Amino acid sequence: MDRQWSVRDQHRDDVLALLHRGRRLTRGEISQSLHLTRSTVSELLADLLDQGIITVAEQRSPGGRGRPAEVLGIHPGAVRYAGLDFSHTAVTLCLANSAGDVIAAATAEYPSGAGWESRVQLALRSIHELAVDDVHLDVIAGIGIGLPGPNSASWHGFPSETPVEPFHLVKARIREQFASAFDCAVLVDHHIRFAALHEASIAGESERDIVYLRLSTGVGGAVLGAGAALRGTHLLAGEIGHMIVDETPQAEACRCGRRGCLETVASAGAVTRAWQEIVGPQADLEDLAAALEASDPRASELLTGIADAVGRVLGIAALVIDPDEIVVAGEVGALLVNVLPDLRQAVARQCLTGTEVEIRGAVASHQQGALGAIAALRSADHPARRPGRAPSLPAPARGGLRVR
Ligand SMILES: [Zn+2]
Repeated sequence: MDRQWSVRDQHRDDVLALLHRGRRLTRGEISQSLHLTRSTVSELLADLLDQGIITVAEQRSPGGRGRPAEVLGIHPGAVRYAGLDFSHTAVTLCLANSAGDVIAAATAEYPSGAGWESRVQLALRSIHELAVDDVHLDVIAGIGIGLPGPNSASWHGFPSETPVEPFHLVKARIREQFASAFDCAVLVDHHIRFAALHEASIAGESERDIVYLRLSTGVGGAVLGAGAALRGTHLLAGEIGHMIVDETPQAEACRCGRRGCLETVASAGAVTRAWQEIVGPQADLEDLAAALEASDPRASELLTGIADAVGRVLGIAALVIDPDEIVVAGEVGALLVNVLPDLRQAVARQCLTGTEVEIRGAVASHQQGALGAIAALRSADHPARRPGRAPSLPAPARGGLRVR
């Protein structure tokens, strides 16, 4: 049963909030900052040291006579944030300390046909398996969960006997499971938005405006304004993969229910099919990459056509938000980097900044979504505003962030 929250618990959390984000302080500095007596602070710190939550980071010389003072900091193995990225086939997990350093990571594949219940169970097990030796979960403040868009997997798996539960309800269940397992804030968002946040954090400037487009199995987009991913009223902000680029009667059907979206001409599957029509049914994207490398004119013609469609969509997005940079990701994104001048021309036709606009390929990492989730948690976690166990991350009892 839950015991009563005591003054001592509050003091303990205040100490942890003070040492958050790599800050290091002596016992004297901690007691001064919190207006607590030296003996109260010493007792608290002794417990935290015993539990491996804080550590002696260095000895500070007093500059005269007397003993050197111990400088204390959060134990580097104390997990503060967990970032998870659920794809259609696997979950990637990264655990980070309060400095944002990843201290443990794993990827676990689900059996095919797994529903969300077993995906979540696998992720929970994997998090606990990562917490060994020096790595522990005693001060975890937030879990960020990246999810794919609506799809056919239900809670119990598919095929499903019962009608498929709407995905926003599945999302709410996923969030509840993690909140109750770890008693911390849980942030749920589209994994493409988290991947875009990760790209922004790599640049080292937190307030960038970015248009991000991942061209893979599907085509997913995200727009970042001043470093924050725009979500929109229906959580559909930045879904530029569904801008219509083919208005002809032959336009292909898209999984969103309409015809001729960018996804129907620039997803990995669509590009593979287009290449197969040119060179034969066995060809794949690797052959296309090799043909580009060998300057096969058929390959560059195909890619130029795709760059034209992708560039048009990116250019319209750029016209709307005037970004610092445009990032293309995914297998097709990596191919488009070979025809960057064509892509840039197509973008420039739509926006007012001409060919000045910065376009680059994404940094390839299967951990992108999980790392972006950690970046989102860190930026929501400001101990100065509200000291406590999970500083300004919303507490689970208060419902956390909105999930729809
Ligand atoms: Zn569509």
